[in-house]
Amino acid sequence: MKERVSLAPFTTFGVGGEARIFIEARTEEEIQEAITYARECNLQLYPLGAGSNLLVPDAGVDGVVLKIMLDDIAFENDGDDTLIIADAGARWEKIVDTASEHELFGIENLAGIPGTIGGASVQNIGAYGAELANTFEYADCINKTTGAHKRITRTEAAFAYRTSFFKTHREFIITRVTLRLSKHATPNITYPDLARVYEAGTPLRTPSEIIIAVRAIRAKKFPLSIEEGTAGSFFKNPVISRELADSLALRFPDLPLFPQEDGSVKISLAWLLDYALSLKGFSINKVRLYEKQPLIIVARTGATATEVSAFADEIAKRVFAATGIVIEREVETFGAK
Ligand SMILES: Cc1cc2nc3c(=O)[nH]c(=O)nc-3n(C[C@H](O)[C@H](O)[C@H](O)COP(=O)(O)OP(=O)(O)OC[C@H]3O[C@@H](n4cnc5c(N)ncnc54)[C@H](O)[C@@H]3O)c2cc1C
Repeated sequence: MKERVSLAPFTTFGVGGEARIFIEARTEEEIQEAITYARECNLQLYPLGAGSNLLVPDAGVDGVVLKIMLDDIAFENDGDDTLIIADAGARWEKIVDTASEHELFGIENLAGIPGTIGGASVQNIGAYGAELANTFEYADCINKTTGAHKRITRTEAAFAYRTSFFKTHREFIITRVTLRLSKHATPNITYPDLARVYEAGTPLRTPSEIIIAVRAIRAKKFPLSIEEGTAGSFFKNPVISRELADSLALRFPDLPLFPQEDGSVKISLAWLLDYALSLKGFSINKVRLYEKQPLIIVARTGATATEVSAFADEIAKRVFAATGIVIEREVETFGAK
């Protein structure tokens, strides 16, 4: 346990203040001890994965930040399927590679996403036509207010676009996640970027071939977080009513629209920022929208969390003024709840 630890190095944005108390947990017992400590000190407890979806405020986090370091990965056969049972702190990329070594399909399209499987479950990570929800079986959790253990199944996890039960029930600390993967699935390569690679002649038959293709596509779109701070897409793509989508389509005929099962329509915010608002590369001081993918906010060394947040608010204001859409952040402000 340490006091007053700067959190910037524990996040991919690399900005923000200190944790009042910082604890690293390598076992479930250490998580339980941290829960007891926080309760006795009457402090809030905030689980931290790899910090790749977080903006830490400059004022820091007035509570106990618990870095989840448990990282074992195990396999279990279950009929035709294979279960991957991973500790919450296991790196997502390691899980993707381990599944590929066993020729298991299900998470190959999600290659290249930073973070831990704990954070991935909170966020229901998604990319290239896949979501974590597709393979999630259950998560083992500890309730930080009672210390009780609970298993949350896929149905209970209530996954939706970049959200889950875990996001709305912050009392649960995920300790282990089980995914269901298969050796016999059909490759999911209908997403336009992947379909183009396939049509150009790249074989996409095995998980490993798809992983290589996805990582190559992503390498052209995402900044290297070692050089500049980022947490990936800062905003969610808006999901709007059919009426609003139709009126936007009249003004912007090329705007990509993705009809949803419930009749609503998801629209590409990156397209709006780029073509409707000409904001690609737009910057204020050390913060900017990334030139290759304008959903991404990038912070240069020396930027503050306050500047990043003010910049995000400015983007949201401009989108609202141009379209009437209130955009939501995908990146979370750490310590806010
Ligand atoms: C370059 C880049 C590219 C990205 N690309 C994508 C992408 O394509 N698709 C996508 O969906 N996301 C993407 N992201 C966002 C990010 O990688 C994911 O959201 C990731 O899953 C977050 O995991 P983490 O371990 O870093 O979580 P953190 O950022 O550490 O935490 C996120 C939230 O989860 C909570 N949390 C973490 N661990 C636990 C736990 N064990 N129990 C309970 N709560 C927990 C935290 O309290 C916090 O609220 C990208 C980020 C970057 C930097």
